[in-house]
Formats: sequence, C-alpha cells, structure tokens
Amino acid sequence: MSSQQPIIVIGTGLAGYTFGKEFRKYDEETPLLFITSDDGRSYSKPMLSTGFTKDKTADGLAQADAGAMADQLKASVRTMTKVTAIDAANRELSLGDEKLIYSKLVIAVGANCIEAPLQGDGAEDVYSINDLMDYAEFRKAIDGKKKVFIIGAGLIGCEYANDLTNGGFEVESVDPLPTVLATLLPEQASHAVQNALETEKGVKFHFGTVAESVNRKGDGYEVVLGNGETAEADVVLSAIGVRANTVLAEQAGLEINRGIVVNRELQSSDPNIYSLGDCAEVDGQLLYYVMPLMTCARALAKTLSGDTTPVVYGPMPVGIKVPVCPIQVSPAPRDVEGEWEIEQDDNNVKALFRDSSGQLRGFALTGDKVSEKMALQKELPPILP
Ligand SMILES: Cc1cc2nc3c(=O)[nH]c(=O)nc-3n(C[C@H](O)[C@H](O)[C@H](O)COP(=O)(O)OP(=O)(O)OC[C@H]3O[C@@H](n4cnc5c(N)ncnc54)[C@H](O)[C@@H]3O)c2cc1C
Repeated sequence: MSSQQPIIVIGTGLAGYTFGKEFRKYDEETPLLFITSDDGRSYSKPMLSTGFTKDKTADGLAQADAGAMADQLKASVRTMTKVTAIDAANRELSLGDEKLIYSKLVIAVGANCIEAPLQGDGAEDVYSINDLMDYAEFRKAIDGKKKVFIIGAGLIGCEYANDLTNGGFEVESVDPLPTVLATLLPEQASHAVQNALETEKGVKFHFGTVAESVNRKGDGYEVVLGNGETAEADVVLSAIGVRANTVLAEQAGLEINRGIVVNRELQSSDPNIYSLGDCAEVDGQLLYYVMPLMTCARALAKTLSGDTTPVVYGPMPVGIKVPVCPIQVSPAPRDVEGEWEIEQDDNNVKALFRDSSGQLRGFALTGDKVSEKMALQKELPPILP
C-alpha cells in the first residue's frame, strides 16, 4: 500500500465515480478514497424517472454496490459517511470527530432538491427524490396506492408524471407557471407536451398557482392550492428543482456563485480543491446534466494525472424523458437575446432560437421532430469553446 496521501473524492454519483473510472485509465497507483453520505451504489440518476416505463425497481436500477465499485476502481469507498468540514489550509477533512488528510480533494456533492415551503400536518410526509435510496423509499410508499400528486411540472415533474402513469398511477400536478416545462421550452412546445400528458396519460394540471399546504386526510392527503382549489392523493411528491450543494465549499471559504466556482481546469479558489458535477460552476456554466459532468470527469482525470487539460463544452442538447411526447432541447445561453422560429404540426414542434445575426443558439423539438436533433446540434456554437 502506498504511504502517499490519497486523492479524496466526496460523492459517488455519476460525477464522482466517472472521474474515478477515467482517472484509473491514466494512473493505477495513486490512492483514491471516495466518501459518500449514501450507500455508494453506482446507478444512473436519469433512470430514476423511468422505473415504471422500464420495469425496474430501485434495486434493478443499481449497477454495482460500493464494494464492487471499490474493486473496480482500486479505491476505498466509505459509505453512509458525511464530510462535515473541509480545512483547506491544512488539506484536512472532518467526518465528525475523525480527520483525514488529502493530497487533492475533488468535491462532487451534486445538487439538493429545493424544498417547497409547505404548511399542514402532512408537509413532512412529502417525498423528494435525489438518489437511489430516496427512490426506494418512494417506491415502497406508492406500492398498492392509486394516486400521486406532483408539486412541479418542470423537467423532473413531467418525467415522473409520464413514468407514474405508465405504472398505472393517476397523477395530478401543480406549477406556478402557465404550462409545463415553461423555463425550458417555448410556449408551443410546452403546450404540445402538456396536451400529450393530459389527453393520452390523463394527467390533471393546475397552472398559475402553488401548493400551499398538505394535510393528512384518511389514509392519504389533501393538497390545498394557492387559488383555493384542493386535490386528494395517496402520496405527494415534490419536484420543484435543484440547487447546487455548496454548503461544505462555502464553509471552507471557497469562492461560490450559483455553484462552486471553478476554472476550466475545474480548480476552485483553493489550488488543491477541484469540483465537478451538479455542484460545480465551470467558467460561469452551471449545468445540471450528465453530458457536462462526463466531459469534466475526462478532463479532470487527465489534469490530476499530470496532463493539465482544460474543459471544452460543445453543444449539449438534453433529451427529456416524456415518452408520450419525446423532447430534445438545447437551451440558449442565458445572456443571448433572439427570437424563436416555430414550425408546428399537431404535437410535433420544431422551435429554433436565433440571435440577431441569424445564428442558431438553441432549439426545442417535440414529437417526430426530435429526429432533427443531430443535424441542428451541428449548427450550434460550442458552450465553452
Ligand atoms: C429524475 C432525474 C432525471 C434526470 N434526467 C436527466 C437526463 O435525462 N439527462 C441528463 O443529462 N441529466 C438528467 N438528470 C440530471 C443528472 O442526473 C445529474 O446532473 C447528475 O446525476 C448529477 O450527478 P452528480 O454526481 O453531480 O450528483 P449526485 O448524483 O447528486 O451525487 C452527489 C453525491 O455526493 C454525496 N454527498 C453529498 N454531500 C455529501 C457530504 N457532505 N459528505 C459525503 N457525501 C456527500 C451524495 O451522497 C452523492 O453520492 C436527471 C436528474 C434527475 C433527478
């Protein structure tokens, strides 16, 4: 065993484990230690919202347990262990009273579910799903039940709405915006998805209002909305979005903006601490998707094995898993002004976002039009050249 201090990775989500796999392609010797507050099973988080469609339970979605991952990565994996503090000056982590020294630290702690501010005696029973363990609990809770109320009709809310209806559940949902996926898609594309979920899957939506309280009623719950309407359900799921988990980094004095601020080499404001995945804001880009973190994992593996490699992001469209009306979207950068050009045939929408010079900067495709993704992707400029 090497006496060298390990590279410590906090987090065993897609970001942490993908970094480990990539790093071992270049370096078989440097000790690697993974620490995770969950059970350390390897799984693909996007698959959580496809359990019923693909007929997989939480266990069925797990690809390997922590022991198998440790063998595969020639690493140690400590599970159910929370890092409580980082002392950057002394390169020391606290796990409660225990202290560990690192050579380099990789923070891959993901994002947290935003909690809906709910009143009522059932508010504590509302589920939110951020990992495989949460998903296992949720599956247990809905077993034998009929109806799920979903707070939020964005990406994750819509994916669960479609998946739960595929599993035979009745779904009702609320969102403060005027339609589904309203922050990601132009109105026509949102309406196409909403229409498919309503007419083909029977999802009932309430728009322009919020869930204010969740009260126990019989064996289930009554959800009271801001507009005074109510809905009953057996289980309530909150899916109102995620926020980068920056708590540890902030306490350690690292620079934080919307996420942990890192440069193109994924290095934070402390030279021995790196970050990637849902917690990291890479040269101004905070993208809660898989493709960016894979790109980062490959670059960081090279950098930490001695070949400094800045991250380059090409265009990265995202597939939204609403099979009743498939969606591919490449959101335009936040600061770009422009206009949508829309072609529509029923629920098949092709929406192109062009800037004032006519350059394609984003797109949204629904239904049959998703087949045009590859061609359009080639026209987009890179996100981080
Ligand atoms: C339902 C759903 C569907 C999605 N679908 C898609 C999709 O179709 N396409 C796409 O590109 N993206 C999708 N995403 C987003 C994608 O899954 C995430 O971007 C990605 O999984 C983030 O991985 P991560 O490793 O950064 O974070 P996580 O998977 O959240 O991992 C964080 C890790 O950090 C650990 N941790 C946190 N704090 C501590 C601490 N203090 N001490 C120790 N360990 C700690 C956790 O235990 C965990 O191991 C989806 C997300 C969800 C929820």
